[in-house]
Amino acid sequence: MSRLEVSEIFTSFQGEGPLAGRRAIFLRLARCNLRCTWCDTKYAYEPRYVLTIDQVRKIILKYRESMMQERPLLVVTGGEPLIQKRGLRSLLESIKEMFVTQLETNGTIDVSDIIELFDYVVVSPKLASSGNPPELRKISPTYRKVLEHYSDRIFFKFVIDRLDDIYEVESIVRELNISRGKVFLMPQCRSMEEHVEKLRLVYKLALMYNYSISVRLQYVLDIR
Ligand code: SF4
Repeated sequence: MSRLEVSEIFTSFQGEGPLAGRRAIFLRLARCNLRCTWCDTKYAYEPRYVLTIDQVRKIILKYRESMMQERPLLVVTGGEPLIQKRGLRSLLESIKEMFVTQLETNGTIDVSDIIELFDYVVVSPKLASSGNPPELRKISPTYRKVLEHYSDRIFFKFVIDRLDDIYEVESIVRELNISRGKVFLMPQCRSMEEHVEKLRLVYKLALMYNYSISVRLQYVLDIR
């Protein structure tokens, strides 16, 4: 029987990216193939629970009931959720119609064989400032093809830690021919104070390079 290694399931507000501010159910899957120095979900490297697909479905549907929305937002995040693509597929095939689904991924794993189950895919490629070696954080070459067919549902979210991160962002945007309107710059931070400080840098870079800004509501409001 297919199982999922889960870190946590909860409801909150989507804090980042193109859907920031929306009420959402979060399914945080365990395990990640990267180790960003500033990772704020290190607790997801190891599973807290190993659950059957049916158990995960029941928990998510219970939250859906409490949200009183016909198709609430379901955010699948991690860790890197595509590590558990098989279990994720079984889960989503059975509940997809009841949710607006959003995947958050670091972009290193092929998404093409599961993308039809997501209304939104937010890719957050990791830059040199994340501390991961280049060969590990390389964007999956399959994104070139995926972007040709599904560009309407794919967004990019870059964590900006320092000024020269922008050169790497520019090179990825050009290489994959990503529309600037689909790119969000977001401050790297682990506290409310750092959020404010780095947001100023993000603002300047976004203005200069014509990208959008993403705040991180969880740091502004000190919520999960
Ligand atoms: S990709 Fe995400 S979950 Fe994985 S180490 Fe980096 S920030 Fe943490």
